[in-house]
Amino acid sequence: MAKTDLQFGKTLKKYGAIDFNACYNCGTCTAVCSLSNEDESFPREMVRLSVLGLDKEIQRSLKPWSCYYCGDCSTYCPQEAQPGELMMSLRRYLTSRYDWTGLSRKLYTSKVWEFGSIIFLALVILALFIFYHGPMTTELTPEGGVKINTFAPWKTIEMGDWIMAGLLSFFLLSNIFNMFLKVIVRNKKVKVPFKVYFTEFWKLIVHFATQKRFADCESNKESFFSKLKTGKFNYWIVHFLLMSSYVALFTMIVGFLYWFQTEEIHEWWHPQRLIGYYATFGLTFGVIYFAVHRFRKKRQTSKHSHSTDWIFLTLLFLTTITGILVHIFRIYGMPYETYYLYVFHIMVLVPMLVIEVPFSKWSHLAYRPFAIYFSNVISAAEKLQKK
Ligand code: SF4
Ligand code: SF4
Repeated sequence: MAKTDLQFGKTLKKYGAIDFNACYNCGTCTAVCSLSNEDESFPREMVRLSVLGLDKEIQRSLKPWSCYYCGDCSTYCPQEAQPGELMMSLRRYLTSRYDWTGLSRKLYTSKVWEFGSIIFLALVILALFIFYHGPMTTELTPEGGVKINTFAPWKTIEMGDWIMAGLLSFFLLSNIFNMFLKVIVRNKKVKVPFKVYFTEFWKLIVHFATQKRFADCESNKESFFSKLKTGKFNYWIVHFLLMSSYVALFTMIVGFLYWFQTEEIHEWWHPQRLIGYYATFGLTFGVIYFAVHRFRKKRQTSKHSHSTDWIFLTLLFLTTITGILVHIFRIYGMPYETYYLYVFHIMVLVPMLVIEVPFSKWSHLAYRPFAIYFSNVISAAEKLQKK
């Protein structure tokens, strides 16, 4: 018999759930959800499991990841039970359950841990710069730029990047493995033949690169040009812009720093500068767009914000703005401004990556495509079983 957790409602409220106990099971939310279908019906089922406190069933389910939070279900719910917000809080809850270190749970449920870990990491970076930075020089490059590699040699920074990327990959991939154990290995209903993992693999790549199901949400179906005219940008496009800018920046920092952090000042059309400008534009536009919506609270999706939503936006904004200023100071030959701001830039960038990628808000970019992949693997295996 399924075990009920009587405290589950209280637990879920810490992750941002609101009035889901008001649900009287009418099914309107599932009827209006454009992503729900016969094979995969939600969000009503997830609301019922949450009301009943069936924690284990929730941890085995991939449905919270199928929701892209368009907010339609919350808009039409006659009881104002906020099913969309519940799905969002279930994703936060699942993230904390996949994470075997327990850090994610602490970051989502305690502001002391949330702010404390950011400040701790920032101070570690500051200490590393205080003890290991190279000479500060007022001598400029032949083009009149600041010698950034004298102060922070790219080889040293790159070594730190690789250590950080290795740790992030380890934590994120081990958490995804934990997710795999919960939803497939311990799923007694289906046995997955090995070959199915390969035949379905392309879906993981496609959904990671495009997040294309997001565009299928009813609220997102207005065309790009009509949104441009009205100024209401397509949520999926802005999300894609933000995500691709983030990934581009991460790739440049970790994989190509020798090419990205140069003292040579290239022409504006050089790929190094174009990628930097794309990432800067995408991050600035995306952060301002989402922050304005969260301040205004007019859209259903922006009415309720968890503290981790604001932390992520704030860290991204500070990283972007300090990155832009470092670039300007460097080009215009302002050594001390460049050096000090570079340190502050890294003090914000590192916590943003270390905390957000494996343990908090960013991790949904990895969990969601994996959830779609696992869900397709299970469906394919079930079809084979029926044959
Ligand atoms: S629409 Fe509201 S009341 Fe009806 S099932 Fe969904 S959450 Fe419950
Ligand atoms: S928020 Fe949108 S996608 Fe998510 S369950 Fe509700 S209607 Fe469906």
